[in-house]
Amino acid sequence: MQSTSRTVSRLTLLGLPGSGKGTYGSLLSSQLSLPILTASAIMSSKMTPEMREVTKKGNLVPDAWIGGVMKDAVLSSGHKNVDEMVVEGDSSQRGEPAYILDGYPRTEGQALQCLDDWEERIRTDLAVFIDVPKEVVLAKLSGRLVCVECGKGYNDVAVDAGGFDMPTMLPSNGSRSQCDCGGCLRRRDDDTDAGVVEERLRVYERQTKPVIDLFAERGKLYTFTPFRGVADIGKLYEKFE
Ligand SMILES: [Zn+2]
Repeated sequence: MQSTSRTVSRLTLLGLPGSGKGTYGSLLSSQLSLPILTASAIMSSKMTPEMREVTKKGNLVPDAWIGGVMKDAVLSSGHKNVDEMVVEGDSSQRGEPAYILDGYPRTEGQALQCLDDWEERIRTDLAVFIDVPKEVVLAKLSGRLVCVECGKGYNDVAVDAGGFDMPTMLPSNGSRSQCDCGGCLRRRDDDTDAGVVEERLRVYERQTKPVIDLFAERGKLYTFTPFRGVADIGKLYEKFE
């Protein structure tokens, strides 16, 4: 029998904003020793003045530019054990290309880049779809709290619906207003305006649906449904054993 457990080392995370992509991504990153490449951070560091003009006018940054920037990031920092094997100027000597992408690909055009256009050795092996429905995300976003001092995130809304059973995540002092470090807890303005949040989710769903479908067609989609939130992380790790 052929083994199906070929090592998967080039991943992307898909899921609605608020689905916990960041949390599951950083847990997977330490579990699998893969670097996380966060698209928003990479892109804002590479924005040229021309690109800033484009976005200032409310236009979208072209897929071709995004794909180029992400490919460069993968080639320069997306490697396993990068610290041990850095050889300047020769990325082929830096160990196996490996990464967890967060926030890319976001459109079908971008998905075709990392599935087909990039060199074979850096193409994306698998998309992990964090399957949390819009209703659950909305409830969770409304409970999101951030410490103004240390930046730690909490959540004071528990969800018990549609099979989901996610407890609150409060500081160990049990407070909804004060972090364990003593800092104040605040909600983000853009989380509390329900209209804005819903619109953001709608746009995202419309854009991401074809990306999910494409990875599924290629047999490269793994759907992770965290019914119990972070307590289910073991189910995700099992996929990579
Ligand atoms: Zn704090």
